[in-house]
Amino acid sequence: AKEPVRVLVTGAAGQIGYALVPMVARGIMLGPDQPVILHMLDIPPAAEALNGVKMELVDAAFPLLKGVVATTDVVEACTGVNIAVMVGGFPRKEGMERKDVMSKNVSIYKSQASALEKHAAANCKVLVVANPANTNALILKEFAPSIPEKNITCLTRLDHNRALGQISERLNVQVSDVKNVIIWGNHSSTQYPDVCHATVKTPSGEKPARELVANDEWVNGEFISTVQQRGAAIIKARKLSSALSAASSACDHIRDWVLGTPEGTWVSMGVYSDGSYNVPAGLIYSFPVTCRNGEWTIVQGLSIDAFSRKKLDLTAEELTDEKALAYSCLS
Ligand code: NDP
Repeated sequence: AKEPVRVLVTGAAGQIGYALVPMVARGIMLGPDQPVILHMLDIPPAAEALNGVKMELVDAAFPLLKGVVATTDVVEACTGVNIAVMVGGFPRKEGMERKDVMSKNVSIYKSQASALEKHAAANCKVLVVANPANTNALILKEFAPSIPEKNITCLTRLDHNRALGQISERLNVQVSDVKNVIIWGNHSSTQYPDVCHATVKTPSGEKPARELVANDEWVNGEFISTVQQRGAAIIKARKLSSALSAASSACDHIRDWVLGTPEGTWVSMGVYSDGSYNVPAGLIYSFPVTCRNGEWTIVQGLSIDAFSRKKLDLTAEELTDEKALAYSCLS
């Protein structure tokens, strides 16, 4: 039998956490034959709720779940973890300045970075979900210098999946027949959902999605804004944010990273930029990646037209500003 993998979920008593932990315990993140031990962290005001989640995990009698650690102690939470999914963060409240939210999250991610660096298993893979996800991941990287930068990522897979979903709805095809959209940049409203290289499986072979849609106005307009604004649309409809799809996409992100992407398919991940596609190095930026043997590689050589170039640069500028703001909170 396989050794259990220890999976940390921070903010585990929150909405996304509540949707995510049963998926992990059912093998949706790491596969149906991989036992797991869940480490759940939350803050003291959420301790009682967190204990309730732990009780439900016991009650659900998940065969793959070999243990549950539910704690408000960051060191206990991080000890020995192989995968860390960082969902906890300080929410933006009405009347708060951007800088205040940033400052709260910078201090959270700074302290969690140190705990992960000292206590996580060697080669721990980190996924940051909490907003501002890219910049929280960057702060985590800065304060965990011994964790390889390739192990620190942020979630843009939900945006990626939303883009696949929009194309499938538009063309009335199965979502599993659509692939290779790209989310570039920040997990924010400046992200660029790009269909220029996406394809659709049809009875007469694989076709470019753009050609099948045959409507550049939609591709360059409504499609982009629908994906960018989808989170807000869900809040409006549900009066709550998109927890189910965020949790499911976090599982997709880790599963593909650990187990590999299918041949000929790429996915979007927020990763440490090496300057590919003239994106400034040193930002956590969402790129198209393929994964194999537990490592991601940025897909190279895709053509970028003038429209796309502007969009790639715009979201990079926002990330550069966020980085500067985050650093100003440190001093
Ligand atoms: P959620 O579980 O709904 O969201 C958690 C984080 O994920 C937020 O930062 C949220 O950003 C972000 N996020 C990223 N993508 C999405 C998406 N597609 N849809 C929704 N959210 C997304 O928040 P809750 O408030 O229910 O839970 C947060 C938990 O974190 C609580 O249990 C709380 O106690 C804990 N917490 C931990 C802290 C710490 O570790 N020190 C500090 C503060 C809270 P956004 O805010 O933009 O929606």
